[in-house]
Amino acid sequence: MNRYILHGGLILSFDAANPVLTDMAILVEDGKVRQLASLDAFSSMECERIDVDGKILMPGLINAHHHFYSTLVTGLGKAAPSKDFNEVLNNLWWRLDKKLLAEDNYISALISALTAVRKGTTTIIDHHASPFSAKGSLHQVATAVKEAGIRASLCYEISDRDGEAICQEGIEENTEWIITCNANPDEQLKGLFGMHAAFTLGDKSLGKIAEQVQSLNCGTHIHAAEAESDQRYNIEHYGKRVVERLNDFGLINANSILAHGVHLNPKEMMLVAEKGAAIVTNPQSNLNNAVGIADVCKMVELGVTVGLGTDAMIVNMLEELRVGLWAQHLKQNDPSKGFMEIANTLLKNNPAIAQKYWGAGHGTIAEGSPADIIVVDYDPHTPLDANTWMGHVIFGLSQARVDATICAGKVLMWDGELLLDIDEQAIKARSRELAAALWDRF
Ligand SMILES: [Zn+2]
Repeated sequence: MNRYILHGGLILSFDAANPVLTDMAILVEDGKVRQLASLDAFSSMECERIDVDGKILMPGLINAHHHFYSTLVTGLGKAAPSKDFNEVLNNLWWRLDKKLLAEDNYISALISALTAVRKGTTTIIDHHASPFSAKGSLHQVATAVKEAGIRASLCYEISDRDGEAICQEGIEENTEWIITCNANPDEQLKGLFGMHAAFTLGDKSLGKIAEQVQSLNCGTHIHAAEAESDQRYNIEHYGKRVVERLNDFGLINANSILAHGVHLNPKEMMLVAEKGAAIVTNPQSNLNNAVGIADVCKMVELGVTVGLGTDAMIVNMLEELRVGLWAQHLKQNDPSKGFMEIANTLLKNNPAIAQKYWGAGHGTIAEGSPADIIVVDYDPHTPLDANTWMGHVIFGLSQARVDATICAGKVLMWDGELLLDIDEQAIKARSRELAAALWDRF
């Protein structure tokens, strides 16, 4: 199905100038939104017409910080109790990622990507770790992304915690992946240079990474000031705060993503804004790890582009958005503050961030934009217009079912059924086997 017309639905374009389009049909051709016009304008065109009357059409959602590799942790109860964030890392994530094997990397990504399709997320910016199976890991993740039919930006999160040789493997994995992406342009797959965090990378490693980032001229993706301990460690050992230290190595540029930023001071926020980098907030993860709540209102006030990620807690961006709003109310100690700042993370800034890697129009429905479109079963019971649409997204659409997911014009799910050339039951069965084996090794 190379060319078809979607008609009858109300379109939320995620374009601030014209956010709600009524009585408009979408001509999808060769993976793009070719034309937006009334259905009558297409009367002489011969192609399939798909009626989505009574539904909402929106751009495929974007998750700007994720970890496919953590999928097999669901239900794992063996981690020791943790009294702070560093113990969470030591008792759970750094025990788990050391045990991941090549097939775990693949199946974790595939399960997560299929769940994303079900929840209407079509673009994921991922941050992968599997220190004892680093080589080739991004290709294993990429295979799953291709099979699920979505788009992803991949990177490997380098750290010094497993020694110099493994750090070097991580550098090589990022380098090789970015070279592959540059040599084989693929609209589904992109790459950034990944690092775990400033507190797990010494100056020698940051120096080596900086050389690669400079020669590849690429963006970076790193956890920054997720917990207060990241700041404390960098000040104690290097005499610098996190953003200042990374910036001194030239590791923050206009294509960089700093995840979390819970403990940044205004000076650091201004430096991020000046570099044109993005901060991606992950409110559910921050609440779960009890590290604090990012001051998104302050970041926005200081000119930072703040995006929204899930840090692998879930892949449901609308749920993350809601929690982000409640958390910001609490942070500001004012239930009327933060609405626009948080709504814009998903509806405006995630598209802007993804456009740095995928190009203009990504994350919106406009003529020439990629045909990444979701159909949501939502018939508004109050007026839905240019003034109210964001409120409908947060308070109404977030509770509705995603009926259909389209990525690059390809229908991945229709009426709640996956239309992919895969055996989902067999994949789930294999995932349970691999998870049980992983938990035994844990
Ligand atoms: Zn993360």
